[in-house]
Amino acid sequence: MTASYQVHDHFYDVVVVGAGGAGLRATMGMAAAGLKTACISKVFPTRSHTVAAQGGISASLGNMGEDNWRWHMYDTVKGSDWLGDQDAIEYMCREAVPAVLELEHFGMPFSRTPEGKIYQRAFGGMTKNFGAEPAQRTCAAADRTGHAMLHTLYQQSLKFDTEFFIEYFALDLIMDPDDGACRGVMAWNLADGSIHRFRAQMVVLATGGYGRSYFSCTSAHTCTGDGGGMVLRAGLPLQDMEFVQFHPTGIYGAGCLITEGARGEGGYLVNSEGERFMERYAPSAKDLASRDVVSRAMTMEIREGRGVGKNKDHIFLHLDHLDPKILHERLPGISESAKIFAGVDVTKQPIPVLPTVHYNMGGIPTNYHGEVVTLKDGNPDHVVPGLMAVGEAACVSVHGANRLGSNSLIDLVVFGRAAAIRAAQVVEKGAKHRDLPKAGDEALARLDHFRNAKGGSSTAKIRDKMQRTMQNNCAVYRTGDVLKEGVGLINEVYKLMPDIAVSDRSLVWNSDLVETLELDNLIRQAVVTMHGAENRKESRGAHAREDFSERDDHEWMKHTLSWLDAKGGVTIDFRPVHTYTMSNDVSYIEPKKRVY
Ligand SMILES: Cc1cc2nc3c(=O)[nH]c(=O)nc-3n(C[C@H](O)[C@H](O)[C@H](O)COP(=O)(O)OP(=O)(O)OC[C@H]3O[C@@H](n4cnc5c(N)ncnc54)[C@H](O)[C@@H]3O)c2cc1C
Repeated sequence: MTASYQVHDHFYDVVVVGAGGAGLRATMGMAAAGLKTACISKVFPTRSHTVAAQGGISASLGNMGEDNWRWHMYDTVKGSDWLGDQDAIEYMCREAVPAVLELEHFGMPFSRTPEGKIYQRAFGGMTKNFGAEPAQRTCAAADRTGHAMLHTLYQQSLKFDTEFFIEYFALDLIMDPDDGACRGVMAWNLADGSIHRFRAQMVVLATGGYGRSYFSCTSAHTCTGDGGGMVLRAGLPLQDMEFVQFHPTGIYGAGCLITEGARGEGGYLVNSEGERFMERYAPSAKDLASRDVVSRAMTMEIREGRGVGKNKDHIFLHLDHLDPKILHERLPGISESAKIFAGVDVTKQPIPVLPTVHYNMGGIPTNYHGEVVTLKDGNPDHVVPGLMAVGEAACVSVHGANRLGSNSLIDLVVFGRAAAIRAAQVVEKGAKHRDLPKAGDEALARLDHFRNAKGGSSTAKIRDKMQRTMQNNCAVYRTGDVLKEGVGLINEVYKLMPDIAVSDRSLVWNSDLVETLELDNLIRQAVVTMHGAENRKESRGAHAREDFSERDDHEWMKHTLSWLDAKGGVTIDFRPVHTYTMSNDVSYIEPKKRVY
């Protein structure tokens, strides 16, 4: 069968899959270190989802009031509900400052203060003095920060001797059966249908999140977690998948995002009684409590009959009290989105909003060098040779059970750079690639199988079932019964995969086949997400169980690892949370009750 596909061979020191913020920063650093580097992306680099990031990137620059990376670290640990690894969090918060200055020197067009410094706004959960008062820590380019950042990184990456393979779809990893190392990746050129085998000493997965496993989400249609799918098929586990972030303010109906920066600039939420209800749920931080807290409060208001609109099923976000000049300068993008998607003039009317799936805290487990780790022979930090993961695809874990707004963009550049530094240490330049006669055969068999699939269920139909199951059974609030039902339902959806139908048999711009491969990646992650959520019997961060409403550090302060076998069977095990810091410059932050 595979003989019918002609395969083009390529040899690199490093291959990066993904050209979002994380992939581009890793690519740049690796090329700069003199490694022969390729970057593969299924979309043109500047169309990666990073381009859509609005509110900003966190770093304790202290441009708008005193700040300290230790305060940033404290907020991040607290935001993570003590599931984050504190060594990695220390690394990120310290490196955030030089990372943002580096972006500035690369030419990123930040908004400015009157004296010409990088403008910083308030964001949920970001405080001074260990929770005492809000901090202005989120560096912004109006409400188009991701756009500014991604274009800057792409421009910079062109300076180096990198080869880009654009609109190439990575299919699967090439794993060495002898030692479990990753030795490359298989890819399909979407434009001409050719098949490519990339051999590499190191593969870096920077493929982004899997938001599209839900019906309503803020992420792009391309956010299908392809890297996570490849990792599960390689027999490796994913980590903490039950932690899915709902952003409080997706536009009602459309799902697209209204940045938290809107509340950072003074916006607030009200219920049908015109009440600013966040004052009751988070007396100190109010509308700027962290995202899980605000999403739960909104859900409670709606449940108790105080939602707005004809069906009392959403909430209003007010910006109409703000100076129109500020709205125009600092929030032009969301003013436009509100007009287009909700028909609202933000200077005069509130925006109808609803919590919407936004970010995946879970992903491919790594250490803070970006190296993929797994549990092996009792070692929870066993490094998988030849494989790294960065960005939303990875779980470092700096976000733990709940990510703070603006901590993803900083994660991308800090750990993209860290991965490059590590690769320069561990990859031998120009080393010979090991002979692997069957490399890529399985990936081609899978491609061929889907390409010729003649079953009875269309890709769109199975995808719709998956998305509705996740939306209904793995939502903001969860209970044992609903999750148990969810496990049964999502297993049923998984069982439909062998019955899938693909109508287009071509290899050139076959979007039917692309969407099928993407669905195969999504559904695997949906399955482990649901199983992980059913299994975790506590409430922590974004995982809010009504039947286990308290956090249980004794039993559950540990990372979930989940493996998926070919038949859809899930195996769950655990890794300890790193309860130590990276250096002696800061001490371990002891768990305590999380209130805002
Ligand atoms: C609307 C929105 C607003 C946001 N705002 C903020 C914000 O203000 N601040 C903040 O910190 N975070 C924000 N976030 C979160 C943050 O933007 C994302 O977590 C982050 O951009 C993810 O970056 P990434 O590099 O990991 O992946 P992405 O930017 O998603 O890029 C993934 C890359 O992988 C490639 N790829 C994927 N699969 C394949 C495959 N099979 N083959 C080849 N290539 C593949 C894609 O082509 C793409 O280049 C926001 C997210 C959204 C959705």
